[in-house]
Amino acid sequence: MIQTMQRDLFSDEAVASEQTATQFAEVVFDRPLDHAFTYAVGADLRDRIAVGKRVRAPFGRGDKATVGYCVRLSETPPARQVKELLGVVDDEVLLTENLLRLTRWMADYYLCGWGQVLNAVVPAGARDKAGTRALTFVEAVPEAGLKELPTGETSVASQETTGETRIPPKQAAVLELLRKADKPIEQRQLMQQARCGSGPIEALVLKGLARRVARRVDRFVDSTHEEAAPAGPITLNDDQLGVWNQLQPVLKQGGFHAFLLHGVTGSGKTEIYLRAIEEIIHQGKEALVMVPEISLTPQTIQRFRGRCGDVAVLHSHLGNAERGGHWRRVAAGHAHVIVGARSAVFAPAKRLGLIVIDEEHENTFKQETTPRYHGRDVAVMRARLENIPILLGSATPSLESWHNAQRGQYTLLSLPQRVLDRPLPQVGLIDLRHEPPKRGRPSAISDGLEHAMRQALKDGGQVMLLLNRRGFSTHVHCPSCGHVESCRFCDLALTYHKERDILLCHYCGFEQEPQRNCPLCGQSAVRYQGLGTEKLQVEIEERFPRQVVRRMDSDTMRKPGSHARVLAAFRKGLIHILLGTQMIAKGLDFPNVTLVGVVNADMGLHVPDFRSSERTFQLLSQVAGRAGRGPQGGRVLVQTFTPDHPCIALAATHDYAGFVAAELAHRRQHNYPPYQRLARLIVRSRDQQAASAFADQLADIFQRTLQTLSAQTPPEVRMLGPAEAPVFRLKGYYRFHFQLQSPSAALLHQVLRAVLPTLRMPAGVEFTLDVDPFNML
Ligand code: ADP
Ligand code: ZN
Repeated sequence: MIQTMQRDLFSDEAVASEQTATQFAEVVFDRPLDHAFTYAVGADLRDRIAVGKRVRAPFGRGDKATVGYCVRLSETPPARQVKELLGVVDDEVLLTENLLRLTRWMADYYLCGWGQVLNAVVPAGARDKAGTRALTFVEAVPEAGLKELPTGETSVASQETTGETRIPPKQAAVLELLRKADKPIEQRQLMQQARCGSGPIEALVLKGLARRVARRVDRFVDSTHEEAAPAGPITLNDDQLGVWNQLQPVLKQGGFHAFLLHGVTGSGKTEIYLRAIEEIIHQGKEALVMVPEISLTPQTIQRFRGRCGDVAVLHSHLGNAERGGHWRRVAAGHAHVIVGARSAVFAPAKRLGLIVIDEEHENTFKQETTPRYHGRDVAVMRARLENIPILLGSATPSLESWHNAQRGQYTLLSLPQRVLDRPLPQVGLIDLRHEPPKRGRPSAISDGLEHAMRQALKDGGQVMLLLNRRGFSTHVHCPSCGHVESCRFCDLALTYHKERDILLCHYCGFEQEPQRNCPLCGQSAVRYQGLGTEKLQVEIEERFPRQVVRRMDSDTMRKPGSHARVLAAFRKGLIHILLGTQMIAKGLDFPNVTLVGVVNADMGLHVPDFRSSERTFQLLSQVAGRAGRGPQGGRVLVQTFTPDHPCIALAATHDYAGFVAAELAHRRQHNYPPYQRLARLIVRSRDQQAASAFADQLADIFQRTLQTLSAQTPPEVRMLGPAEAPVFRLKGYYRFHFQLQSPSAALLHQVLRAVLPTLRMPAGVEFTLDVDPFNML
């Protein structure tokens, strides 16, 4: 289909002159529909229409003018009468051929509308040309330049000459500027340079010696740009050389090849990325680097900027204008390297030669709104389509990627040691079950951790403390009737935020004033329990009054730039103790951090999600990796109630191999990914009865479909549920979910494709489908 699309696109020009030929455009809209709609292209739009541009077309009830994407052009008239396009929106094509193919694949794989995918792919700033301005430029008309012009004589007499060969000196000066420039000059600049008004320009235009052209220019300012300290290349150590020797030939040769680079924290993975990128730039191609949102720090960007030339940055925290500016720069081929978060996978690069994904295991690569794609998986597909190598890197690869490496789909590269013979930090476990309460008061940090902190600070080191829960108290509870204050819209306890003095729902953002008395029984002694980062900060400041303590969580990091500011102060040593949520755990390289404390390692362990062990292991390994990155070394202390849990015990010994072996066995036994593919379906409604009834009905439909299919093939797709979702009520919706499990994605798709088009949703009931889900709550 792609082949025909391309042929049609090019044959378009050839037949444009035949007056009999009529053109038809296939258009997809931002709707969960699986097909394209055909429209006739009026003669006036022929020279503007192209595949990959947006169009306006009559659509839906009342034929409302609706914007969609043109995905195919053809000359074959459709069987039935079609409506005509109303207009073409874009001057330039927004999507490359490969991006069209990639998005088509996404619509098929994630079972959503192609138009929905396309809408998510092109950032708003690029669609509405935010940050650009239409300006008037002036250029010399080259054909009129054959005549010799008297530019030197500026006598008073010549000003009155209006003959063909003589022009007044002002005009002559302007013309000379234009001819020297050899490219159009913006009109206002031209007036400044020639120190004239618009009169002489107007006169030249009237004489046919110059002409005006309209151009759109960028006026975007790159806020990510800072002084780049060009770091010289480092001499690779033996492990790095081993990796490089496997990588380089493939980079030189080109073609699709997926690598998984497993390197412990601080093993010099980034140095490998940089070499690979340099090689690709050397070939005249572009490299795409995807990092988790949280790692998109100025430090990261500078590392690439220092070594790799022109870097464009793509992520959702940039304003529309800036984002659009970077996007257009990439589209125009002006960037050598594109660094960005999840959505950077859609960078409109035309000469892509390599994709790198750092911290490939990170959950943030998965998008939790339609299209619910996984940036890493889409990147691998893009590498296939572009026929280029892709390099996935992590200290704790996802089980999916590890499994792919074991199956030989990916080539495994490894860096088992830190650079410069630095050891991985020693990790000590503090068993909270045997920890005596301090002076009768519950306390966040044990004596052991407190002593270690004092020692580290005394020796001039810095300390990081991880507590993956924001707020002050995690629940408010009445000791006399047992009531726990929960969200009005969700089945979740409200968190008390002391600085703002509110009770807050971390899922839907619902806020409520804290009450002094229990709303149920009127008791006045309501208790604020559980530990969040705000309370931890208060406690640490009390215990360490002479140290500078800063907190980093999504509450303190609201203002743009605050993240970078705190990290810069920490790097300079102006902050002694940095505490925070997982925000502080990832990717940071602070050589003076000699102690990392984990306040409660069990926090994420008891979540009803088959990935909870994997996540806990990753988080502990990542945060431990922040310690001992400098010559002074460092250590890690982990407080836990479950020191024997494999994911905690194995993280403490840096035993990734041991962890994955145990965890993979568990996954295989329970039919979970990476051995089986999952799709999660959620039915939700504000009306509990309606949601429940439709979930049952849907389950019946699936059961019958599975039976029909299993008559032909072995019953390999299994359905679990329907059941109430772990968070049953969320944002006012009652939610039922079920899961489909299958050893192959193709089978799973077959079942879903058989069912989805037949569904008729009852009023007030919504339905979402998540292929390869990450959020199981
Ligand atoms: P990772 O990405 O694996 O955590 P980095 O690439 O950030 O590790 O490397 C950690 C530190 O070691 C960086 O400061 C980097 O400049 C430095 N480094 C990398 N390779 C070498 C090497 N071969 N010799 C000395 N230092 C190195
Ligand atoms: Zn809520």
